[in-house]
Amino acid sequence: MKSPIPDYLDEMLENERPDEAGELAGYIQELASADPDQLGAALATLDGEIYCAGDTDIEFSIQSISKPFAYALALADRGVDQVLDKVDVEPSGEAFNEISLDKDGRPLNPMINAGAITTHSLIGLPGCTAEDRVERMVEGLSAFAGRRLAVDEGVYRSELDDAHRNLAIAHMLRSYDVLTEDPRAVVDGYTRQCSLMVTVHDLAMMAATLANQGVNPVTGERAVPVAVIRQVLSVMSTCGMYDAAGDWTTQVGIPAKSGVSGGVIGALPGQMGIATFSPRLDNHGNSVRGVALFERFSSDMGLHLMEVPAAARSVLREHAPSGTETVRIFDLQGSIRFAGAERVVREIVRTDIAEDRVALDLTAVHSLDDVARRMLLEVARRLSIEGKEVFLVDPDTVIPDPDPGTDGSLAVVSRRDELH
Ligand code: GLN
Repeated sequence: MKSPIPDYLDEMLENERPDEAGELAGYIQELASADPDQLGAALATLDGEIYCAGDTDIEFSIQSISKPFAYALALADRGVDQVLDKVDVEPSGEAFNEISLDKDGRPLNPMINAGAITTHSLIGLPGCTAEDRVERMVEGLSAFAGRRLAVDEGVYRSELDDAHRNLAIAHMLRSYDVLTEDPRAVVDGYTRQCSLMVTVHDLAMMAATLANQGVNPVTGERAVPVAVIRQVLSVMSTCGMYDAAGDWTTQVGIPAKSGVSGGVIGALPGQMGIATFSPRLDNHGNSVRGVALFERFSSDMGLHLMEVPAAARSVLREHAPSGTETVRIFDLQGSIRFAGAERVVREIVRTDIAEDRVALDLTAVHSLDDVARRMLLEVARRLSIEGKEVFLVDPDTVIPDPDPGTDGSLAVVSRRDELH
C-alpha cells in the first residue's frame, strides 16, 4: 500500500501552483533569474522518515534560512550571555534589511540582517580567522543537514557585488564596537553563509534537527548542544517571519524562518521539520506559496503550537487491586511531564492502598522529564515512609538513577512478573 502522505503533499502543491502572485527578489542578480514556477515541499520526521513532493532536488541558495542555524552555532561557540550581549531577541516589526539598531548599537534580533551579520562574527572560537569561521559555519550547517553543503560562487559573487546595504549595516555595527573586526570580512563570510546551496529536502532535515533538540534524525549526529535549541526556536517564533511574525504566529503557529530565494522552514519541536520552496515573494520578503502551504499544513495536520492535546489524561492506565495480588500496581504510559505526573500523584494520594507493596510500572512510558521524575520519586519516598515497599518496573531505564532517599526500600525491577 502507498502512504497517503506524499499524495496529500502533491495535492497541496497542485492547489497552490496556479497562484502566481509575488515577485522574485530583484536585488540579487542570481535570484532575479530563478525560474519563478518552481515549487516543492518536504516533511521530515524525527525518526528519520522524509516525505517530499514537487521540485525536491533543485538546489537554491539558503539565504536568510541560514540565520537560525548560524545563531545556534554562535550560541554553542560563545554561550548565550556573550551572544545576547551583542544581539538582542526583540521582534523588530521592520523589514529584514532595515538599518536599525537599539540605542546601544545592538541589533534587535538575529533574524534581521544587522543581527545576522553580528551573529556570523560570533561563530567559531574568539580570535579565529575569517576563513576558519567560514569553515566552522559550513561544517556546522552541514551537520544540521546531514550532508556536506557547498557555497555557490556565482550567487556569492553576485550578492557581494551589490552588498552596499549589508556593508553599510556592518560599518555602522563596527562604529558601535558591536562588530570588533573588519566589517568587509564579516559581510564576506555572511554572504558565503547565505550562498550555501540546499534542496527542500535538506531544509526539512535541518528543521527536523532543530525539532529534534539538535540531533540530526538520520545521521544521529548532534549539531549543537540541546541547551541552545530553546533559544533558537523562541527567536524563530517571534522574529522568523520578519514583520509578518504576528500573522504567522496566529495563523500557522510553528517556529519558522524564510529566505529571499523562496524557501520557508518550520521546526515543530518534538514532531517534525517542514520545508517549502517557491521563489515569488510577498512584500515582507516571504514566499507567497510557501506561506499559503504552511497555513494549509498547520490547519490540516493540527500543527499550531498553541493547540496541544491534554497531555495528562492518558498517563495513568489503571491501578485496580487484582484480587489475590499482594501488590498494588499503578500502570503509567506515554510521555510524562508536570501535568501527567500531577495526575498520577493525585491518584496515589487519594487511594486508600491496602496492600503492603506498591509498584509504579513504567514499561509503557517512553519519556519522563525532570520534574515528572522528581515528583514520582518523591511520591515513592513518601509511600516508603508510610511503610510500603515500593517498586519501579522500569525495563527501559526511563528513570536512570532513582535515589529518592528511601533507605533502600525502593527497588527497581525490569519485569512486572518479578513482583510476584
Ligand atoms: N543574503 C540576503 C541579504 O542579506 C538574505 C536576506 C533574506 O533571505 N531575507 O540580503
